[in-house]
Amino acid sequence: MAGVSGLKGSFPLTEDEIKKHIKYKVPGVFTLGTVNDDGKYQTLYVGSAHRDLAETLKKCLRQTPRFKFQLFDSAEDAFNKECELYHLFRLAANKVHPPVPPLEAWRCPECGFPKKR
Ligand SMILES: [Zn+2]
Repeated sequence: MAGVSGLKGSFPLTEDEIKKHIKYKVPGVFTLGTVNDDGKYQTLYVGSAHRDLAETLKKCLRQTPRFKFQLFDSAEDAFNKECELYHLFRLAANKVHPPVPPLEAWRCPECGFPKKR
């Protein structure tokens, strides 16, 4: 089931499905998407959660029919994967680069964002 993104899914974007697949508060990466007439998942949006992926996904209910996800041990790992997917897909819905939280010294593995001034 893993496509180019390496994420699990896709699954219907419903509260029940989120609860079924993500049982703990964990960092993670997700995509929101839809399934085309040819049966292929089309990614429409890439996002991440640094603390609680299930909670973040619940805020996205009804935005798209389906989602994919991957859990990570650390928020920085989730950020790195989000950056990878952000640069891979270049989606219209992802207008800005994934942000680095205040007080973190993370850098995008693809482009070095945010560059030091
Ligand atoms: Zn980048």
